[in-house]
Amino acid sequence: MLPFAALGFYQRSLPRGVVVTLLCLALGVNSYRASRRRPLVISQEGLYILMLVAMSVGFNEMSLAATFWCYPLPLYFLFTVRQRLSNLVAGTWLLFVTSQCFARLDMEIALRVSLTLALVMLMGRTYVSMIDELRESLRKQAFIDPLTGLYNRNTLHKKLVHCRERLNRGQEKASICLLDIDHFKRVNDLFGHREGDVTLQKVAHTTLSRMRKIDDVFRFGGEEFLVLLSNADASEAAAAGESLRALIEDECERPDGVPVTVSIGIAELEAGESIQSWLHRADLALYEAKNTGRNRVAVAPPNPASPALKPAAGS
Ligand code: GH3
Ligand code: MG
Ligand code: MG
Repeated sequence: MLPFAALGFYQRSLPRGVVVTLLCLALGVNSYRASRRRPLVISQEGLYILMLVAMSVGFNEMSLAATFWCYPLPLYFLFTVRQRLSNLVAGTWLLFVTSQCFARLDMEIALRVSLTLALVMLMGRTYVSMIDELRESLRKQAFIDPLTGLYNRNTLHKKLVHCRERLNRGQEKASICLLDIDHFKRVNDLFGHREGDVTLQKVAHTTLSRMRKIDDVFRFGGEEFLVLLSNADASEAAAAGESLRALIEDECERPDGVPVTVSIGIAELEAGESIQSWLHRADLALYEAKNTGRNRVAVAPPNPASPALKPAAGS
């Protein structure tokens, strides 16, 4: 757009030269800030008002030639602002351009400009909505397990790190329950993979229904789930785990009478402990629950490397 600003000055039109230069500067500065992921200097609303002023000056001085700019300028907003604001921009821009065209141009030309502008806006809106939908579905695929609708492992690590930071700041304890469906392979072998999937969904939904709003449930692996209990120590987590185990036993039995049960390993996060060690202790507890007969809950003993357990120097 800068050459057109220069043309304005060259043709001795100070208002056109100044306003187009300002518009270029505002767009340039905002683009630079956006590329650095910093807050914009000129608000989007301010930029829109500047565009309206530039178009008014353009219409005033050049009539038909100014109409070429009515197409690209509002597209900037379609792609850069939230839907509500971009709809508002599209509506007011269409009204503004239409009124200017009918006031200054032949009726036939004015009608053509208004209709083509409306079409461009509509197509732009449709295109942006399609991109938004695709982006949302990609976001879900990255964080949500498609079979059960639970969080997947990509989300887990971030949440566990968050818990560790809170504990280290002395803010909140946290525990995990690691669930594994007992003899799940038999369900697949007896009734097929599809029926196995239905059982996985049922266990996932039952687990979700029992947990508090502040807890998070993840699909940890094939037939393993992890429940992250906020603000719960090992004994509170063991009580929650036991109630979940009993609920699954009651509610998840298959229609053909084959029981579905889970074994659960519990571990409370200890101060200074790594995420890896926390998960490892829950896994060991799960292993113990399996080895001692399945359909039961086992709690991990404290971490031997925990600073709280180390003997004090000199003792
Ligand atoms: P255990 O009590 O020792 O845990 O026995 P198990 O049979 O549950 O454990 P094992 O590790 O032998 O088998 C797990 C099975 O889970 C094997 C695998 O085919 C099945 N599986 C993993 N992911 C899926 C899935 O998404 N859908 C279905 N239907 N099956 C799955
Ligand atoms: Mg397993
Ligand atoms: Mg299993």
